[in-house]
Amino acid sequence: MSDAHNTLKFDTGWQYAPAPESTDHVRIDKKYGLFINGKFTAPSQGKYFTTSNPATQERLSRIAIAGKSDVNRAVKAARKAYENVWSKMPARERAKYIFRIARGLQERAREFSVIETMDGGKPIRESRDVDIPLAAAHFFYYAGWADKLEYAFPGAGVKSLGVAGQIVPWNFPLLMAAWKIAPALACGNTVVLKPAETTSLTALKLAELIQDIGLPPGVVNIVTGAGATGAALVDHPDVNKIAFTGSTAVGRSIMHSIAGTEKKYTLELGGKAANIIFADAPVDQAVEGVVNAIFFNQGHVCCAGSRLLVQESVADELIHKLKERMHTLILGNPLDKNTDIGAINSRAQLDKINSYLKIGKNEGGNMFQAPCTLPSKGYWCPPTIFTDMAQSNRLVQEEIFGPVLAIQTFRTAAEAVTKANNTPYGLSGGVWTDKGSKIFKVTSALKAGVVWANTFNKFDPTSPFGGYKESGIGREGGAHGLSAYLAMEVNHGR
Ligand code: NAD
Repeated sequence: MSDAHNTLKFDTGWQYAPAPESTDHVRIDKKYGLFINGKFTAPSQGKYFTTSNPATQERLSRIAIAGKSDVNRAVKAARKAYENVWSKMPARERAKYIFRIARGLQERAREFSVIETMDGGKPIRESRDVDIPLAAAHFFYYAGWADKLEYAFPGAGVKSLGVAGQIVPWNFPLLMAAWKIAPALACGNTVVLKPAETTSLTALKLAELIQDIGLPPGVVNIVTGAGATGAALVDHPDVNKIAFTGSTAVGRSIMHSIAGTEKKYTLELGGKAANIIFADAPVDQAVEGVVNAIFFNQGHVCCAGSRLLVQESVADELIHKLKERMHTLILGNPLDKNTDIGAINSRAQLDKINSYLKIGKNEGGNMFQAPCTLPSKGYWCPPTIFTDMAQSNRLVQEEIFGPVLAIQTFRTAAEAVTKANNTPYGLSGGVWTDKGSKIFKVTSALKAGVVWANTFNKFDPTSPFGGYKESGIGREGGAHGLSAYLAMEVNHGR
């Protein structure tokens, strides 16, 4: 591939005036306890950790660390609420509570968006337009299912499972909580949720909202802490279902822990999606699609298009246009409405990304980074691409979870599919072409749970989501997502 485009000069564009979202309306307490049985309570060992803003490194709050005895209290509260209240309540009444959570999220959307951005580092545009509206949409969608379960699985004899233990990662904190809590409640289960340690705040705000809407105590419990808290929840003998979203390594250890028990489980794990661009695709749209797939949200997306496979005849043109577009991306204050690229979620994640940049260079990759001034405080990584990548390179095979794109070329559709499928993952993918027939051919050959055609990273509560191979087991979302929270007398096969 020619690298002549590396030396070309691009117009750096014009500067926008600052447009920061106000934080005046947001209340973050100095300290948060554990949400158990409808109340915030102190952790039994009195331990807390600090959560800070990754864009400024300023402390936002202190968060309780739940030990085993706290997790036990939470599971007991969930069991009691399940036996005495939630499983006995008519489904249409359960639905009303779930609707109220959805409405509450809509009413307080601005507050939730700002806190999500302050705690996680993602651009406010993302939290405001994607995370919070989609979280509300999931509660609306599953509220609608609560009294129609027998229509979703006719003749299957569906029953709730009991207590669901749910563990979520830091990249979509409230949205992942909604993905898990909404179907669990709709199916008549009660919940103990553990948010990720760097982004617990919106889950704790959700706990406040749950108090405000009068959900019966114990139906949703939220325990904060790191891996040990999650492990205590996984190992608890009175939990009927584990729903985990996070890394493949932790997913694997959870499978070991629950092997031989009767716990039902779903695992939503890592990804290394390929975006495949054919020569007949509209190049400008495809470039925008690539930017959306990997750079927006700093590549902190499990289904991010972290690999680009571009047909050889258009590779130079496309990479040139991609670089041009990278020059115009705005990196900086995540609370600014014009910001495209926010902060990396934590020091540890930034270190991991930087180590992959070194690996990419050592592997012989040709690195290009968007020229931008990084803020003096906080954790930042400019949008980065590597060309000249080989299939065996670690940058092509391993999940980085940062704004780093590994680019390869291909000549035929068959070669593109072989390369796309040749990683341990199978979560998502994208195809860009003008030809409908090629879309059908390639999308059905890709071993990935979700494949987008001429778009990327589009989500909807009605659509199932999940992976093949090391990307996980089970589906969340849509009617498929209900079956993960139900026992069936007759196997329905969904
Ligand atoms: P992680 O696996 O480190 O942590 C995820 C959650 O598990 C956190 O709440 C953490 O505290 C908890 N945890 C850690 N060790 C545990 C243990 N031994 N037992 C139980 N819980 C434990 O992942 P992360 O760094 O927070 O998130 C990034 C990962 O999540 C990426 O691999 C990404 O692809 C994946 N992810 C997948 C999806 C999906 O739907 N497939 C969605 C979002 C993120």
